[in-house]
Formats: sequence, structure tokens, C-alpha cells
Amino acid sequence: MTNRCSICAKALNNPYIKEIKTDIKNYDIFMCRDCGVGVTIPIPLMKDLEQFYSSGNYRSSAGGRRFNPLVEFFIYLSRLLRKRRIKKYVKSGRILDIGCGRGLALEVMRRDGWEVAGVEFSKEAALGASEAYGINVVSGVPEKWGFPAEHFDVITINHVLEHLEKPSHMLDECRRLLRKGGLLVCAVPDISSLQATAGKAQWFHLDVPYHIHHFTESGLVRLLKGKGFRVLNIKRMDLEHNPFGWLQTLFNLTGFKKNLLYNLLKNRELRGSALGAVSAGELVLTVLLLPLFFPLSLALSIFEAYILKRGGTVTMYAVRE
Ligand SMILES: [Zn+2]
Repeated sequence: MTNRCSICAKALNNPYIKEIKTDIKNYDIFMCRDCGVGVTIPIPLMKDLEQFYSSGNYRSSAGGRRFNPLVEFFIYLSRLLRKRRIKKYVKSGRILDIGCGRGLALEVMRRDGWEVAGVEFSKEAALGASEAYGINVVSGVPEKWGFPAEHFDVITINHVLEHLEKPSHMLDECRRLLRKGGLLVCAVPDISSLQATAGKAQWFHLDVPYHIHHFTESGLVRLLKGKGFRVLNIKRMDLEHNPFGWLQTLFNLTGFKKNLLYNLLKNRELRGSALGAVSAGELVLTVLLLPLFFPLSLALSIFEAYILKRGGTVTMYAVRE
């Protein structure tokens, strides 16, 4: 069977990254040079992923928290920063967060006077957000969300497109639900970043098999333009994702158990099952290398964002035309 680009349907011949090992099977990534978008081959099946989502990286504990309290506080600060950035473009109104998780970002907006709604693909997390903050969170396919056309002033869709089989359909839906002149905020990992190129299969944000699609910055700009959005601004320095992307990639490249540090940062409830068998030696070396790798990761993130003009993850602010 021919592998095809899911954006332009061109046949894809040479794998860009080969034999990425996962608990399910090995995957390759094929890039479409015309679109600047890659696809995980074979395309991970939803039935495999569902089981994986409930036990793997994206699992959260009761109340929706995934990490230890210090990391959770840092995530809260980054939501406040996100609010400030949105308000540069739109002062108030209706906001939809697609992939809202437990609804923390929406709660921050609601307290600021916004009318908020969320979409969460995990029914469990959707229920958690509804219970915790009383936010209207829907799940399932877009046809079932029930929002009227041109209803929202802002739609945020952060780290979602790469998880979808049909990211371009989701952008069509965003366009339909946004009013003319409304703001789309869209974040994805950038497979053309230095951390991606250096890490290859070991890159933290590659995250196969969860990530079905792999965007480059120029590829996402082109896709957004094609869908009737005009990109106003691109942020390539994301403190929540980019330095950690480097940090975990450096550890992965040294040959430690993959994503060990990430799993160590999880909360107590999730840590045990996520870590599995880890040797004491690996733990000690991880702690010893941190004072070296942490500042290095921060410096590399700044270098790639401001000198190379690439981000390990990128956030685009675009207006619906
Ligand atoms: Zn293509």
C-alpha cells in the first residue's frame, strides 16, 4: 500500500525517521516536502491508542492533575501568561479551548469575565472539568459539539492537531465556529526544530504513536493560510514545553530509560506505574546530570528560538479572514 500525505495525497516514498520503537509496534515518519507535514506510518489505530492513552503519558489522576505540585503551579503560571497574550488581540468575549484537559486555562479566562466552553476528547477529563469548575465541556466528533457557526471570538487549539487523523478537517471546524476577525491560537511541536533534528527518534515531543502528524513551522503557516487564516504572530519560545523538550531529549540521547525524568515529575499516584523498573544507578546519574543539562537546555531553547528562528514547539496567533 502506498503511503500518502494526508494533506495533499501525494505518494510518500522515503522515511524521514525510521523504526521508532514503542510498546505497540515500530513506526516510521514520512515527510511531505510540499506540505511541510509528516505522518506516522503505519497510522496508529484509535483502538490501540485508546488503551495507550488511559495508561501512558496522557493519563491523569483523579482531579485531572498529572504532575507534582511544583510543576502544576508552573503550569498555572503559564496559563496566566497565555491569557495575557490572547488579550493583546481580543479583550473579552467567548472562548473555546479544543483539547482543554481539566479546564484550567478556561477557568483562568472565566475568572477574567469570558464566556468559556471546552472540547475534550477524553470523556473522563471532560467530566472532570465540568465537575471541578462547572465549565461546559463537550466531547466526541465536531458534529456533536452543538455550537452555532461563528459563535466564538477566540479558539485555542494547543497540542491537538498532531494527535488527529485529519488535522485539516479540525481547522475547517475552527473556521466555521470562529467569527470573522476572530483569533485562532494554535500550538504544535516543530519537527524542523534543532531539538527535533538532534533527537530524531529520541526527541521528547515526537511522541509517537500519540502524534499521528508532525508539523514544520512553514507547513502549519501554509495549512492555516489555505484554511482562510492570516498568521499574525509566531511564538517560538514556550517556557512550558521547549526547555523541557531539550532536557528530556538530552537524557534520552544519553541512553537512559526513555522519558525517565518526565515520569519522575508526575504525581505520586501516577509515578509508580509510569516508571516501571528503573535502576538506582540511572536515578542517581539523572540527578547528577540535571545541574549540567538544565541550563544547557534553557540556553539551547533560547538559541533555537531567537537565533535559528525555530521552536521545539511553536504557537501561532492567526485571524480568521
Ligand atoms: Zn502533502
